[in-house]
Amino acid sequence: MSVASINNSDELKDLYRELILDHSRNPRHFGKLPEATHSADGINPLCGDKLRLYLQLDPSDCITDARFEGSGCAISVASASLLTDAVIGKSRTAALELANTVNARLSDSTAAQHADPDLEKLRALDGVREFPARVKCATLAWHALNSAINQQSTPVSTE
Ligand code: ZN
Repeated sequence: MSVASINNSDELKDLYRELILDHSRNPRHFGKLPEATHSADGINPLCGDKLRLYLQLDPSDCITDARFEGSGCAISVASASLLTDAVIGKSRTAALELANTVNARLSDSTAAQHADPDLEKLRALDGVREFPARVKCATLAWHALNSAINQQSTPVSTE
């Protein structure tokens, strides 16, 4: 199943689908981050998505840069790209909070709303809720974010 099969005539959803396609074709912050202070690997065996997330935190625990590399389906790549856009400039705590919120929203539509303006863009990922098999593609990068921030050494697997 590809992202193109998310078929909905609603204009807003089309806009979000465009955003997913754009981020999957032109991922932001893609590549290695040699100055990384934190990193984590994520694998989603179900789909074959693999990524490594790099974070650079300054002494005040602010994320000054984020990058990712790896390969995967459109949703996993777009999600990682949106993630790096969203977390740069955030504190460690705010980034963890955002990861928890996104993971909760993607698995449960009734998850609490969050005031973070970055969530507006991340709504683009909400469409995957209709495709339970794809939820793991979308949450992979966010689980990796959690693991990188908490400096867990075992790779994150969605299985
Ligand atoms: Zn995938």
